[in-house]
Amino acid sequence: MSQSGERVVTLLRPWSLPGQGRHPINGIGYPLFPVSTALVSDERFELHLTGAHHPERPARLASVRRGLCEGGQWDRLQHLPFEPASREAIARVHEDRYVARLIEACERGKACIDCPDSAICPRSAEIAILAAGGLMAAVDAVMAGEAVNAFCAVRPPGHHAEADLSMGFCLLNNVAIAACHLLACHALKRVAIVDFDVHHGNGTQHSFETRDDVLFISLHQHPDTLYPGTGQAEETGLGAGRNCTLNVPMTPGGGDEDYLAAFRDKVMPALDRYQPQCLLVSAGFDAASADPLAQMEVTSAGFRAMTDQLVAAAERHCAGRLVSTLEGGYDLEALADATAGHVDGLLARSMIRR
Ligand SMILES: [Zn+2]
Repeated sequence: MSQSGERVVTLLRPWSLPGQGRHPINGIGYPLFPVSTALVSDERFELHLTGAHHPERPARLASVRRGLCEGGQWDRLQHLPFEPASREAIARVHEDRYVARLIEACERGKACIDCPDSAICPRSAEIAILAAGGLMAAVDAVMAGEAVNAFCAVRPPGHHAEADLSMGFCLLNNVAIAACHLLACHALKRVAIVDFDVHHGNGTQHSFETRDDVLFISLHQHPDTLYPGTGQAEETGLGAGRNCTLNVPMTPGGGDEDYLAAFRDKVMPALDRYQPQCLLVSAGFDAASADPLAQMEVTSAGFRAMTDQLVAAAERHCAGRLVSTLEGGYDLEALADATAGHVDGLLARSMIRR
């Protein structure tokens, strides 16, 4: 978007409430559409069935919806229509033969692909492609100024999926597909992805570690102590992508203060140096203290504080453009509460008066 275009969005956003035509003091008009926080949500994401005892289960999304309803966010969100990701969009991240293998495994009724963790059912490929399309729609809405930011309550999650490999409950790398969509179809030159899921986003790193048009920042429980075992601080990118990967391993048992210190000392300075044109967030809530899969101690207030910082960084660098997507988070209560706080942080910024 042109500089003047960005300025218009920034100026008009605070007054873009439905039913008002002009700023009451300076008289500046605003677009007819309400600029708000968008939500991608669809009950079809619960058709990806992973088995009775799998932590990445459909009930997670019911929890997210309940959290957003009870927290009062649901009715304030702009619910976005979306379509399955195109083959071309997926091919920017995944090899065709992997996608064909995934589709075939589902059609044959296999129980998993590549590893027992990555459970599938006959409709899993279709739902994964729909999830990736949801992120693309969110990106399009934010880039068009129809929403200032967005949250995508999708599953299966994506950040472990590599070009030709499913890993850790992830089939297609939704956030990587969205980043490539921003570069290819919105002509951006610098996209940043911040991943605060408790596990290292190995798939996203794998997608971009040799490139300088995507800054990937992952905070995760120390890889010596948690799946997938990658994401050491020394992994900083390769070739042209040197210093465009930032891994921040967290000591098990750490909580809000440790994460906020990492944000202050590492994440925010890296974003400020890079100056992204759009910020993507892999929002996993499995660093929550109640989560059964990891040993971090983050509270809902901690997730909210991280959200506020990310929203402020997006405001500083890219007119607030931020698209967040659900990755992990396996304690249903903690997930409901943390997601509501996260989305509330997005809404707070989108409706701010200045
Ligand atoms: Zn995770």
